[in-house]
Amino acid sequence: MPRIAPQHATDPWRPLCAWSDTCLVQWGGKGVVLSESGSYGTAFFEAFPSDGSGGYLRGEGKTVEEAEADCFSQWQRQHACHTTGGHRWTRARRLKPRGDGKDPRPRRGHVVRVNTYTNGGCFCLKCGAFATAMTEVVELGAWKAPLSASELETIADGGLRQEPWERRDPVRWAKYRRRLALRAKLHGLLLPNPNHPAHTLAPDADPFEDDAFRTACREAVVRFYAKEHLRLRDEANAQGLGITGLFDGLHLASFHRDAVSMGLLPAE
Ligand SMILES: [Zn+2]
Repeated sequence: MPRIAPQHATDPWRPLCAWSDTCLVQWGGKGVVLSESGSYGTAFFEAFPSDGSGGYLRGEGKTVEEAEADCFSQWQRQHACHTTGGHRWTRARRLKPRGDGKDPRPRRGHVVRVNTYTNGGCFCLKCGAFATAMTEVVELGAWKAPLSASELETIADGGLRQEPWERRDPVRWAKYRRRLALRAKLHGLLLPNPNHPAHTLAPDADPFEDDAFRTACREAVVRFYAKEHLRLRDEANAQGLGITGLFDGLHLASFHRDAVSMGLLPAE
């Protein structure tokens, strides 16, 4: 019997396949899968084996049973790879051919399209398993990089405080917040203390309601924006009208309105 994730404690459904005792599993019936032909509701089953066969597996299907069977067959394939010669890890995920006729099947000497991960996540060339098998590639100078529009929006929205409803991967998010807070400080963005008793959130607080901490963060970001708006606008313009550029433009326009209404910038 596998280890079952705590949210399923009272769920009468139980996995059917012969998972190992150390494998953590969870499932759900209403996951939404985004595909090129549109999104559709589906059942999913996820496994986190700790036997070296892979880091994370996800199966999908019309029912949870089907999703589990899909996930289990992936695990069997990856487990067989791990126990017969071992995985061959690469940081570069092989992308599927586009299927538009311009991207033929790879031949000898042909360049395969890849998406290279730098966070340590690796793919097995033999079986396709995914796991954190290497260390992160550190980007030199990343800590000194100026704050981007989307980072400022995260800060203005109170994102540097741990929220009571945050469950997934607390260590990773704590690291992310710490790093962003240190970069903000380095660049002269002075923020209120998220750990001050007046700034902690009750577990039943409304996630969309502004409170003292968020209001103070937003004001600090708007003051920072007023000093740096020329650089931020240039960067948003350089990104063009893609999704990132579009969202950055919306965040900046909102900071700009607040800066004008606070008298920090002249009305245009
Ligand atoms: Zn493998």
